[in-house]
Amino acid sequence: MIIRKSPAQIDQIARAGEIVAGCLDMLRGKCRPGATTAKLDAAAERFIRERGGIPTFKGYRGFPASICVSPNEVVVHGIPGDYTLAEGDIISLDVGVTLKGWVADAATTVGVGEVSGQARRLMDVTEASLFKAISRFRQGNHLSDISSAVQEYVEHNGYSVVRSLVGHGIGRDMHEEPQIPNFGVPGGGPELEEGMVFAIEPMVNVGEHQVKVGEDRWAVSTADGSLSAHFEHTVALSREGPKILTAGMAFDRSNLDAASMLW
Ligand code: MG
Repeated sequence: MIIRKSPAQIDQIARAGEIVAGCLDMLRGKCRPGATTAKLDAAAERFIRERGGIPTFKGYRGFPASICVSPNEVVVHGIPGDYTLAEGDIISLDVGVTLKGWVADAATTVGVGEVSGQARRLMDVTEASLFKAISRFRQGNHLSDISSAVQEYVEHNGYSVVRSLVGHGIGRDMHEEPQIPNFGVPGGGPELEEGMVFAIEPMVNVGEHQVKVGEDRWAVSTADGSLSAHFEHTVALSREGPKILTAGMAFDRSNLDAASMLW
């Protein structure tokens, strides 16, 4: 069952979302050569707790850190540790915050210093596919309209979408129904209704879509070793359309379409 939220409840998720967005903004500035992923994790945990939030990922099914940090060929769920950021890396940062019992979840991928043209393009295509998906999150559309928007755009640009990991409903729990794949044919699945809140999160590979789980049983990497990017927002379907609850200061407000989606 998809749990619909009231406007007051969506406001609560948006408060958690402000902390998520602020944390991602802070981390972006720290993604410089020489920083360890453990240092990013410590900074994130401090940032979240100082604002009264709880890092949702910490202890989730035994996850040992506050955020996921996934470099280069790591798609998602990288455990922060000794890895030291190097010029040219791309780093996926995934942050979840629980505030007063409500959860928000978002991710971004950032380049460390100068990155290759391929890496830049991968990040741009992945982020754009997220906005294509969000723009389909409208009353009267169906769930797979969101999914197909990602797949169409990504494959048109020559990349592939990860199949075995999906977006999700979100609210009192980080993972609620429905699952939101990043592929599919339009017009399928439940009809989208006001009050639904989804974490939409395309994961896009330069090479093939297959992934493998690492020895730590968490980090998911591309099977062929190609680069991967990940962008995610928590988005509510309001009467006026989709509203992004995790857009921070670094959000590109020059895009009027995107600006109309801000909560
Ligand atoms: Mg998520």
